[in-house]
Amino acid sequence: MNEMITKRNDLLAQKIIKGLESRNMQGFYAKSKAEALSIALGLIPAGSSVTMGGSVSAREIGLVDALKVGDYKFIDRDLSDDKRAAALAAYDVDFFLSSCNAMTEDGVLVNIDGNANRVSAIAFGPRKVLFIVGMNKVCKDVDSAMKRARNIAAPVNAQRFGLSTPCSKTGSCMDCKSPDTICCQFLVTRYSRHDDRIYVILVNDNLGF
Ligand code: SF4
Repeated sequence: MNEMITKRNDLLAQKIIKGLESRNMQGFYAKSKAEALSIALGLIPAGSSVTMGGSVSAREIGLVDALKVGDYKFIDRDLSDDKRAAALAAYDVDFFLSSCNAMTEDGVLVNIDGNANRVSAIAFGPRKVLFIVGMNKVCKDVDSAMKRARNIAAPVNAQRFGLSTPCSKTGSCMDCKSPDTICCQFLVTRYSRHDDRIYVILVNDNLGF
């Protein structure tokens, strides 16, 4: 990562971590993808059951590969013949991995979902939720985070999955109600009622989209 951007990220991450603490969530800052992987593996005890909601960021730091070969019970939804059963199993795992579509400088996480398996598991079920968040996802406030989620993350995801939505053609949200829309559910995570449940590893890099 560029030296000047790193300097800015180092400072901003401290503000975000304080914001997370005020919301009963725990934040960490990694200077690199390798450091993020090390922090993540330090948080997940051997033998833990782990699954994820389709996080590109977790793959990009090498966490998914490490969990697959390590001493963990990794539930790989992509390999499951029964996607519904795999999605339901997520509610009872030790760790649920996720990225976010955007987050704010004061620690609020914003996610949108079509099927809602991801946002529902973030909200309730898994004993712990571990977010891997590139500093490119950080926005000033909830309004700008929502705009990022709708106009950057959602169009890219719609294109990635070959969905027939207006944004997959224009690259920007058209507030559609198309059958393929992935903007069915919006989750704004502003506080964790449960102690020691939500961890966020901020990474000094561009991860996901
Ligand atoms: S509401 Fe529709 S057009 Fe807007 S981002 Fe979601 S899927 Fe795309």
